[in-house]
Amino acid sequence: GYRSRAAYKLLEIQEKDRIIRPGMRILDVGAAPGGWTQVAAPLIGRQGRLVAVDRLPMDPVADATVICGDVYEDAVIAACREALPEGADLIMSDMAPNMSGIASVDQARAIDLAELALDMAQRWLRPGGTLLIKVFMGSGAEELRRALRKDFKKIVVRKPEASRARSTEQYWLALDFQGLAQERLD
Ligand code: SAM
Repeated sequence: GYRSRAAYKLLEIQEKDRIIRPGMRILDVGAAPGGWTQVAAPLIGRQGRLVAVDRLPMDPVADATVICGDVYEDAVIAACREALPEGADLIMSDMAPNMSGIASVDQARAIDLAELALDMAQRWLRPGGTLLIKVFMGSGAEELRRALRKDFKKIVVRKPEASRARSTEQYWLALDFQGLAQERLD
């Protein structure tokens, strides 16, 4: 079985969009407890590379590298980079903030996390790469969409069945990275 209900969201997206393929290099951001990692690892196979990062500790997943740390910290970003020296074909972020209960604060934090995932994509995605991010609809989402449009050819919105109907969360799939990754990828 999977460690999280979130695993079923990624399975639905994978069923429809086939974003994970054999041999891919993937960064799974906000990965704990590891449901998405469990879904992705067998799909990329031994030729692929999967790096999972979260500030919460996470049990190991076969064929994945787990990094424990907060992605707001430079040292954690550096560790992710080091684990994916050739850059990434797919960056997927299911990050969500700890909810304070103050809607405007939670929305701002959630958008900030999505922007951080975009920032990682702009630095490390290989040409043609994919970014999958969880986005909470509300203030800041439209600006985020505009920013994504600059670097990706196509953006599609997914709302998996497994995602609670009352939740404002969506998953945005940004396809075909056009930007030139800021960090040189050898
Ligand atoms: N996709 C996961 C799965 O399938 O098991 C579930 C992810 S859960 C919805 C969101 C995660 O984002 C939490 O584990 C949380 O610790 C992580 N997160 C939030 N902010 C973070 C940050 N600044 N750095 C690292 N992880 C963060």
